[in-house]
Amino acid sequence: MDVLISGASMAGLSAAYWFARLGHQVTVVERSDGLRPGGAPIDVRGRAIGTAQRMGILARIDDEKVRVLEPAKVLDGTGAQVATLDLRWFANETDEDTEITRDRLNQILLGAIPEGVEFRFRTSIASIADGAAGVDIAFTDGSAGHYDLVVGADGLHSNVRKLAFGPEKDYVRHFGYYVALVDLPNDRAWQRGMLNVPGLTIAVRDAGDGPQGMMLVASSELDYDYRDLDAQRGLIGDFLSRVDAWQVPALRAAFTDPAAKGFYFDSVSQTHMPSWIQGNVAVIGDAGHCAALLSGMGTTLAMVAAEALANTWTEFGGNTTAASPAYHERLRPYVQQCQAFALEGAPIMVPATQQALDERNATFREYAARFAK
Ligand SMILES: Cc1cc2nc3c(=O)[nH]c(=O)nc-3n(C[C@H](O)[C@H](O)[C@H](O)COP(=O)(O)OP(=O)(O)OC[C@H]3O[C@@H](n4cnc5c(N)ncnc54)[C@H](O)[C@@H]3O)c2cc1C
Repeated sequence: MDVLISGASMAGLSAAYWFARLGHQVTVVERSDGLRPGGAPIDVRGRAIGTAQRMGILARIDDEKVRVLEPAKVLDGTGAQVATLDLRWFANETDEDTEITRDRLNQILLGAIPEGVEFRFRTSIASIADGAAGVDIAFTDGSAGHYDLVVGADGLHSNVRKLAFGPEKDYVRHFGYYVALVDLPNDRAWQRGMLNVPGLTIAVRDAGDGPQGMMLVASSELDYDYRDLDAQRGLIGDFLSRVDAWQVPALRAAFTDPAAKGFYFDSVSQTHMPSWIQGNVAVIGDAGHCAALLSGMGTTLAMVAAEALANTWTEFGGNTTAASPAYHERLRPYVQQCQAFALEGAPIMVPATQQALDERNATFREYAARFAK
């Protein structure tokens, strides 16, 4: 049967793998002119370990995982060290949980996809007309197609969700934070570490592909055009102007440089939908059930949902309506569990008050002492 997937990232590439492996004809449309690069290391955890194993990519992921060499320095607002942080203290659900850069994982997923899958970059879905005989699609490049199933794997601001299910505001809930990432230039020696003031975390990390700056900030929902990069840089500049210690002025310059590489800014949000299937259209990954960056479960959910959707839909002979209850039954409890993890991540990554920060730092010191034994 013919399956169209919108978005070529963790969710879309995983879905392309599974639908093609199960014998379907797969087309992937991606708005960018290739796989969209960037992002901090992400986690492949819990049930995604089994999915990766069944995809035959677990060993590759393990080969390319981030190797933490030494704990990072944790600094206060003056730049003085107050603790250390080793993400392994928190990252592990099982011993096999793995941290890998987003770009490397996407390349591994792409490499696993069977031949015959058609990729169309710089293309997006312009309209969806769903009926009993399947889905008629018009593409932004003027072409058209007919599919048995359309899968929206196009991220938090999903185009497919908007076209088939309704506006973003009905499904996406701001989780109270914004995140920014940027690749740092080689014009200076960047110190690895994480500086915190209440409600603001500024970090420099190197996961093996060069130094990267990260900002995580508590903020109510902001009114800006999420596609306007100048507006994004302006917001980041304002947030970072709260601190002038450590290398923050240089980080601010890197974040606000229009020529910077690996720039990413978005709200930390969750997607909550009563149903991920409408007619012959489904949404997976951040489009359907974003768990928020603070959960560390977004990629895991994207990979797990792709496998579950492809298997369930195929089991029911491509009858989307018949497959829908079984699919929701299989996935819903895990999505709820993963989305709840985000509540645990926030007080660790970006404590809101000085008291919460002091308590968190004391916990880090206890962990450091315990793990040193
Ligand atoms: C540049 C970038 C950096 C990220 N960095 C981090 C990070 O550091 N930490 C973290 O936890 N999560 C990060 N994320 C989110 C993370 O990738 C997801 O939470 C998770 O892996 C689920 O993946 P997904 O495939 O559902 O969504 P995403 O990874 O967001 O992928 C969505 C894909 O759909 C494409 N797309 C969007 N609109 C359209 C359209 N109209 N037509 C066709 N294609 C479209 C996008 O270009 C993208 O390739 C990042 C996402 C992006 C895009």
